[in-house]
Formats: sequence, C-alpha cells, structure tokens
Amino acid sequence: MEWLYRTLRYHERKYYLEGDPEISDFEFDRLLAELKELEDRYPEWKRADSPTERVGGEVVEGFASFVHRRPMLSVQNTYSFEEIQEFARRVSRLLGTDEVAYHVELKIDGVAVALHYEDGFFVAGGTRGNGRVGEEITQNLRTIGAIPLRLEGEYPSFLEVRGEVFMSKAAWKRLNRERSERGLAPFANPRNAAAGTLKLLDPKLVRERKLSFIAYGVGEVEGFESYSQLQGHFRRWGFPINPGQGTFSSIEAVYSFCLEWEKRRGELDFAIDGMVIKVDSFRQQLLLGETAKAPRGMIAYKFAPELLRTTIVDVQVQVGRTGVLTPVAILEPVELSGTVVKRASLHNFKEIERKDIRLYDKVFVQKAAEIIPYVVKSIPQLRTGKEREILPPSSCPACGGEIFGDGTFWRCVQSNCPAKLKAAIEHFASRNAMDIAHLGPKLVDQLVEKGFLRDLADLYWLAERRRELLALERMGTKSVENLLYSIEESKNRELPRLIYALGIPHVGEVVARVLAKHFPDLERLANARQEELEAIEGIGPEIAGGVVRFFRANQPLLQKLKAAGVRLGHQNAPKAPSTFFSGKRFAITGKLPGMSRGQAIAEIEQRGGLASSSLTKSTDYLIVGEEPGSKVEKAKAYQVPLLPAQEFLTLLQNSSPNSKPKKPKNKQLDIFSP
Ligand SMILES: [Zn+2]
Repeated sequence: MEWLYRTLRYHERKYYLEGDPEISDFEFDRLLAELKELEDRYPEWKRADSPTERVGGEVVEGFASFVHRRPMLSVQNTYSFEEIQEFARRVSRLLGTDEVAYHVELKIDGVAVALHYEDGFFVAGGTRGNGRVGEEITQNLRTIGAIPLRLEGEYPSFLEVRGEVFMSKAAWKRLNRERSERGLAPFANPRNAAAGTLKLLDPKLVRERKLSFIAYGVGEVEGFESYSQLQGHFRRWGFPINPGQGTFSSIEAVYSFCLEWEKRRGELDFAIDGMVIKVDSFRQQLLLGETAKAPRGMIAYKFAPELLRTTIVDVQVQVGRTGVLTPVAILEPVELSGTVVKRASLHNFKEIERKDIRLYDKVFVQKAAEIIPYVVKSIPQLRTGKEREILPPSSCPACGGEIFGDGTFWRCVQSNCPAKLKAAIEHFASRNAMDIAHLGPKLVDQLVEKGFLRDLADLYWLAERRRELLALERMGTKSVENLLYSIEESKNRELPRLIYALGIPHVGEVVARVLAKHFPDLERLANARQEELEAIEGIGPEIAGGVVRFFRANQPLLQKLKAAGVRLGHQNAPKAPSTFFSGKRFAITGKLPGMSRGQAIAEIEQRGGLASSSLTKSTDYLIVGEEPGSKVEKAKAYQVPLLPAQEFLTLLQNSSPNSKPKKPKNKQLDIFSP
C-alpha cells in the first residue's frame, strides 16, 4: 500500500506539476482502483491524504457558507500603459521611495478559491463569493489532482493558500463535445465551465471534468517576505505555480512583459484575460493598505477583447457525424494578431433567430486562439435593407435527403449520407480516438467519393488498394506508406479509445472509459443488455439505449473490425498487477546477453508490455544490447529513452510475469526495421 501511495503521488506530481505524465489516465485509474480495494480490505491502514479521497464523496444537498478569515478582495482593472504608470506613481508616492519591485503574472480566467491546511492536511476550502463569504466546496476541491491533500516540506501549523481553479481549453472543448453529443448547451468559455463544475453537487462528476489549479497567494502573509519568494514555498509544498511570471524593478519592464503575453496568449492551453501586477514585498503591501474593495498594492492589466468587426458574405451548412446540420458564416476576411479569420460558427438555427443574425449583416466575431470563432452579435444599426433571413435548408445539402428538425437542431436521417460517413471517419481517426495520422479531411473526402470507404472498417482494407491510392491526388509512395502504417498501428489502441472512436450516440471519452472498465472487450459490450448497462454507475437509460441500438444496427461493422485484426479487448485483464512493463511499448536492438530476442519479447509480454522489432515514435523504451544497430540513432531522433540490456534484465527479475509463458508473437508491421 505504501508503494501505491508513493507511486500515485509521484504520477500526480508528474502530471500536474511537471506537465510530463509517464502513464496514461487509464493506467492511473487502474492503480487507484487497486489501492481502493486494499483500503477497503484493511481500513486501519488507510491514510487521511490517500489519493482515493479524490475519487469523490457523497452527493451533497447544497453548500454551506465559507466565511473568509481575511476578506478576499478583488483587484482594480486597468486597460492602458498610462493607467499602469499612474498606479506606479501612486505607489511610489505613498511609500516615499522609487525602489519598488513588481511581481507580474498571468491573470488566469477561472474561479478564485481559498484552501485551508491544518498541520499540513487539507481540511477545508471555499469560493471567493462576495469576498467575505463564499461557498464551502471542500469535497469538490479534493477531487482536483493539482491540489495537494497534504503539504510537503516545512509549513506553518495553519496555512491558507489562495489560488485559481480553472479548466484547460482542451478539457473545456472535450466537455463541450460531450455535452453537444448529449444535446446539452455548451459552456461559452472555460471560466463558465470551471464555475459550473465547482457548483456540481456530485464530487464524482467534478473529478471527471479534470479541473486545474495554480496557487498565487496566502491568507496571512506573516512569516513570508514577498510574492516572488512565496513561489518557492508553493513548489516545495506541492502546488503548481503560474507558468508566466516575473519580477521587475521598472514599470516599463512590467508593461513590456504584459505586452509580450498579450501577443503570446494563444500559445497557452488555458484562457487568460490579462496580467496581475503586484508590489512584490509584503512589507510594502502592508504599508500601502487597502481600500474597501481592493488592495492598493496591486492592479490588473486587462487585455483588449478579441472581438472583430466584419460582414457575413455567405452561409454554408455542414453535416456532422450524427447528421446535425450546422450553419457556418463565411466572412469577409479580417486579420487579428497574425491570423486571418474567414469563417465563424453560427451554432444552430435557433441561435441565429434569437440573435437576429442575417446574411450580409455587419457582425462582431469572437476569436480566441484554438477556439472556433463564432458570431457574437449583429449590428442592426448598420443594415442597408439588402440583408436576408437565414433559414434551415429544405433538404440535406450533402445528399439531398429529407431532414427533420426540433426547432434547434436539424438532422439528415439518410443512413448512407456521405457527409455523415466522412465526419464519422474523421472522428474515428481523431487524436483522442484511434489517432490515425496522415488522414486529413481532404483525403477522407477523396476516399469516400471514390467508394474506397463505405464504413469505418474499410480503413483496415485500404492496404489492398495500394495502387489505387497511389493514383489519388497528392499521394506519393511515401504518403501512402505513412498512411497505411498509421492505420496498421491503430489496430492496437486501448479499449476506451476504440469505444469512443465508434461514435456511439451519447458516448464521449468519459463514458467510453466507464464502459471499458466494466467490459473485457467490445464483443461483450455489444451483447450487453439495457438493464446490465443501466446498472453501471454513471450510465443512465439514455446512454444505455444508445449503446444497445448502436450495436444492434452495427453488428457487421464489429465483425469486420475483428476480421481486420483490430484489438477489441484490454491488453491484459484489468486486475493484473501493474509492473514496470505494463502498457509500455518496447523495441530491441543488438544481442541480449543470455537471451534470444524471441525470449525477450515473450518475457515483456508476460509482464503486460508490448514488444516489437520496429521502433516508432510511440515506443517507450529502446532496449540496447551488444552491437546495436541504427535504431539507436533513430531513438535519439524520436527522443525515445534507451534502456541498457543489463538494466532490462534486472527489471525483468524484479517483476514477476502476469501469466504463464506463451509463444512469442509479433504482429507489428515491420516497415521501419533496419
Ligand atoms: Zn445527408
């Protein structure tokens, strides 16, 4: 158990503090389940800071009030260099000195919270609320992996840490995809999503949404020197800190740092709406004091909103995977910080009606990096009279088939609609699904139009059409081989990815993981009865019905995937003890002392690893024996770590096999072998 505690905390740190995870979410959950089982069996050994505490407690009725020991004040906003200079002049005047250092950091667009630690243990936490009283959301905060349940190193007996809970853009987009699959309204931005999540009464749902946290302050500054010094404490205690921060002695340097981040904001995977500028020294902060609303020693510099004004010149209707028709505005191109915006989402026909957006309208478009631009509002004052209402089409623009609508969404219901098939293939191949590289939308278009792909499983028969593929536009020998290799490699994906990739209605990534935990393989899932599915926690009648109907209609697809050699089950039984080798991919080069290559492969596979004679970017380790070949160079180029033969043999000895020896097998494609 002690080993599991240490291992899980180690991986939490890797993931949240260093941003460099070594194991997949799936493997992490498996270790966690193992620990939970042990704790249930030996409750007397359970620790108060056990990572299983994050799994989520009981559903609550509502939230109690959380009274702040010291008010959580807000920060005054500024919008220009003049205002920042004015702030600096005031600070210097009040302090009677020009020697002021400023600590500057990204203003993350999330929810401010206070966390209480007693003797190093996380005991309570609440939202900012009105600054004096917020809501007590301890159970929900516990589920956030980036918040340590126990502090490390040295700490005061009572400590209040303040910081921001936020949702990454990736998590926000994933959540919105799941919501749209369930017919729920998407969250307009990551901050709304984070705030909405913290208000959920079921901590288990909070955990699934993968919130993040960074620390930026403490409730009581006594005993600390400055904001910049505090950062070192945060790291040692185990908190993630702001990735964009600096300390400057001139206000000009402060401003150029702000401008730099205003330009670079698109590079971040979370939303920021400005920078926070603080007098660094706590002694000076105390001298400056505070007004009723805000401390005098800090201000926020807010970025200009990324709104663009342009004209809608056309409206196109796209057909999605589920047949939903999505209107897209074609814009007069406008430029914003280096990118040209030509298209923007109009969401759906009901939104168009609600916002009264018309063809040829002058409109405001919201643009943020990595976020699909959308039309915020029209400017009716600028209408000339030639604007026209935007109405749903009378038939499917892709296949001409009949469409049905419920007022908000309109759908094409033709099962052979090419637009639906194209979207389904793109989803199947996407990064979070089967992750098939080299299969872009243009190529999918061609493959569907030529009739090479009539369903998802046809992908795995493309290898038989090499010559025809070579005849396609922009397809040389190399691109064909790359494509076929990616497809071949995708046969080995983990079960949750495969389930998600199929595009079953209401089954997003989270639900796919839940299903994969309960079924050993896709065939068992396909034969599951409605009641059996509904008995699983987190699966309601709607999802269960969607799964049952999907597999009833898609038995041939399942058989075809199986015949193609796509892995339909888990690598090894979910309960098998985890070893160093579990779930990792190995390649071998050179001679191993006292062991043939076939034996080595068998030993790795018995410990839950995957072995292959070829080296790819997804290989985790290259085992290097005597007289190694060119793979060593390639491993360096791919940044695949090397594992010397001696270390490999020691690791083998230290982890016992999961299963009886079986014949070595190696079905990996061998294109890259020297
Ligand atoms: Zn259609």
